[in-house]
Amino acid sequence: MHIQTAAVQTLRDFEHGAVVPPVHLASTFELDPATEGGAFAYQRGANPTRGQLETVLAALDGAEHGFAFASGMAATAAALSVLEVGDEVILPASVYGGTYRFVDQVLPARGCTSRFVDDLGALTDADFTPATRVVFVETPANPTLRITDLRRIVELAHRHEALVLVDNTFMTPVLQKPLALGADLVVQSATKYLGGHSDLLAGAVTTNDDALAAALRLAQVAQGGVLAPADSFRLLQGIKTLPLRLERQQHNAIAIVEALRGHEGIAQVWYPGSHSEQEARLHASQAEGTGAVLSFELAPGLDRVAFLEALRYPAFAVSLGGVESLICRPATMTHESMTPQARERAGISDELLRLSVGIEHQEDLLGDLEQALAAAR
Ligand SMILES: *Cc1c(COP(=O)(O)O)cnc(C)c1O
Repeated sequence: MHIQTAAVQTLRDFEHGAVVPPVHLASTFELDPATEGGAFAYQRGANPTRGQLETVLAALDGAEHGFAFASGMAATAAALSVLEVGDEVILPASVYGGTYRFVDQVLPARGCTSRFVDDLGALTDADFTPATRVVFVETPANPTLRITDLRRIVELAHRHEALVLVDNTFMTPVLQKPLALGADLVVQSATKYLGGHSDLLAGAVTTNDDALAAALRLAQVAQGGVLAPADSFRLLQGIKTLPLRLERQQHNAIAIVEALRGHEGIAQVWYPGSHSEQEARLHASQAEGTGAVLSFELAPGLDRVAFLEALRYPAFAVSLGGVESLICRPATMTHESMTPQARERAGISDELLRLSVGIEHQEDLLGDLEQALAAAR
């Protein structure tokens, strides 16, 4: 089944012939007094609506197991709960700010250590110690859109009995399926493309490993950061149009890259594969498209604030993946928790802008960027 079909046809045959699943809001379920058993008992452990969403999340990734959480960070925290005292996690320095905060401020108290590296692509056998338990990957990286070779990281990590955890928020299973490339765990902020309408916080984890699935089930019931039934239903509805939305968003993003590249008002444009021929080939070998997030810097002399104020459509806001275009300044908004030196090493200048391209008409977006560039002069 193609993912476009899986997004709408995975769930079928509801009561009364309904073509949309019912929403079960119950926090508790009646049990059989004789056996004290039942299909469901209490919402935190499992409930029919979240269960349906989890079936769809697994289907999209071609995974055995799917888990829904109350946010992307709850999903990441649950996935990282596989770490035990003494374990080490390796992450890219440019990792999502919330993940950085969790690893920096929460993991040490659990007796876990972390190592941030500038370039996961430069990882070698020498970087692994017996304590290395997880390698955390984001490809493309945010907001530089640099590419990491997933197959190589998987091969390296598995040789050292470490797990590979991929944050696939930027690509979604429509464009990239890390589990199929050997990754052990995939997390996503479903707040972004999966939900797609900037009106819902949610997170997803998928895996093919039964032991890891048991750890995630424990995280759901023991830590309780699960997604509520009403939000599970809304996310199910959002997922139905994910492939369609992303197709349009990517189409728009490609047109914007074309227009900005070589534009006299633009100093540089970054998108997956823009950094080198080799990265472009690598990305093409592990993903189906370049997605709909790009970063750029205005040419010297142009006024960034005037540019942002003149923009009519992309709202100046963090987040990404929604139907409406958004623009932000990573150095002060999404990556402000990094030290200036770390930002410089990661290539995140103070002038860099990140654009999440929406589903608006291409001509309106292109015209808007053009007039804002003129206003910035
Ligand atoms: C937004 C985001 C998260 C965190 O997700 P929330 O839903 O905001 O908790 C994690 N990773 C990436 C790449 C993100 O963009």
